[in-house]
Amino acid sequence: MNNPIEITPIGHIRSPYKQKFAIPRQPRLVDSAKAQLILDEPFNNEEFVRGIEEFSHIWVLFRFHETADKGYSALVRPPRLGGNARKGVFATRATFRPNAIGMSAVELLKVECKGAKVVLHLGGVDLLDGTPVIDIKPYLPYSDAMLDASAGFADTRPHTQMTVDFSEQALQFIAATDAQLELKKFITQVLQQDPRPAYKKNKAGMQSYGMTLYNYNIRWHVDGQHNHVEQITAL
Ligand code: SAH
Repeated sequence: MNNPIEITPIGHIRSPYKQKFAIPRQPRLVDSAKAQLILDEPFNNEEFVRGIEEFSHIWVLFRFHETADKGYSALVRPPRLGGNARKGVFATRATFRPNAIGMSAVELLKVECKGAKVVLHLGGVDLLDGTPVIDIKPYLPYSDAMLDASAGFADTRPHTQMTVDFSEQALQFIAATDAQLELKKFITQVLQQDPRPAYKKNKAGMQSYGMTLYNYNIRWHVDGQHNHVEQITAL
């Protein structure tokens, strides 16, 4: 019992999310978040993914590499519960857990195989740039989708009343970026899910924040339920 297991990553993620702050708490909450799963040697061969394009969604198993060395505790405070109530780590999707393994069901947009370059294009991810991937499996609706399932304290998609608008500078900056990035939609969806830590949400007065998406720095402030994107700059 409890013999250690060694695992070798099969690939890694290239994602617009360059830091943990502002990443959605589950896949598909921000459906315009696009990422690439790049297979690493010796798995970067078309044979490993042959047939996967028949599936609209896949499971990605990965390592919470950024925080894996920070340990875990038996009880965690799910953000859902405002950071106040405690639940057992195995009753949550917390990142600080034994083995630090994450799993996300994401959209499979495209499969790209060119020689030793094997890339799965993903949609709706909740993954940090550089995340090591340890396995990939097709999502099977007949078995994985349980429409009668109940989910206690996480029973519904979290929703906020947050609205978003952009300064003239931000709009002009976006207009000059690659349209394929859908930067305006992406920033809007990220801010609508209110990435602020729970303890800031009820604070009165204006609060200023910054985040990096792709290689853009985005500054915004929050006033009540409204996000105003002040400035976007290239890094
Ligand atoms: N769907 C996964 C992840 C849920 S937690 C699961 O249920 O297992 C989602 C959070 O993980 C994100 O908000 C982000 O802050 C964090 N995260 C994503 N990739 C990470 C990584 N490589 N290392 C550490 N934290 C990561």
